[in-house]
Amino acid sequence: MSKGNLTYWRGSSFYINPTSQCVNDCLFCVRQFGEGVFGFNLVLKEDPSPEELVEAIENDWVPKFDDVAIVGFGEPLINLDAVLAAIKKLKQLTDVPIRLNTDGQARLLYPSRNVARELADAGLDRIQISLNAQDPDTYLRLCRPKFGRVAFESILEFAEQCKPLLRVELSAVNIPGVDIEACRGIAERLGVGFRVRVFKGPEGALEGILRTLTS
Ligand code: SF4
Repeated sequence: MSKGNLTYWRGSSFYINPTSQCVNDCLFCVRQFGEGVFGFNLVLKEDPSPEELVEAIENDWVPKFDDVAIVGFGEPLINLDAVLAAIKKLKQLTDVPIRLNTDGQARLLYPSRNVARELADAGLDRIQISLNAQDPDTYLRLCRPKFGRVAFESILEFAEQCKPLLRVELSAVNIPGVDIEACRGIAERLGVGFRVRVFKGPEGALEGILRTLTS
């Protein structure tokens, strides 16, 4: 069984943590600065099975939650089968729309599966896909993807694939070196929503990120 928390919450928001593994190593990631958020340890020794994740949701869910997201401390879709089970369980527990945050590289993780369709069929309502950069070079330097240069294009393709099935939003963290307006323009051309996210790292970290991005 995993050591860290599989669910966590703050106020009326309830979050699911299917994995702490990721295919990126983003310079701005909260994982660079700690082992969790909101006082919860989110570093998992191993990924939960679908049954373990569903059991944690059943144990921790209370009706006061009016915001539900599958986010976690890594890339949720690495543990896709547990995510699908979690969505189905949450749809039994609540009418609150379920959203998923992802780095959008599902087509590289699962070349032979239609992940967008599987998520929609499970009942997912919204997907927020981290674009994070205006071009492949910036993405490579900022997010350091395991899949390399193809990652950026695959994110755009995944967003296109999700568009007819889910409410889609691209996002980018507002840090020096990221052209937020260019990112917004990509979302507009794709015909999906766009959200600017706030950098949550410690003071002084932005200077280090900027030095890495411009070196
Ligand atoms: S994709 Fe998300 S979880 Fe993965 S390293 Fe980047 S910010 Fe962190």
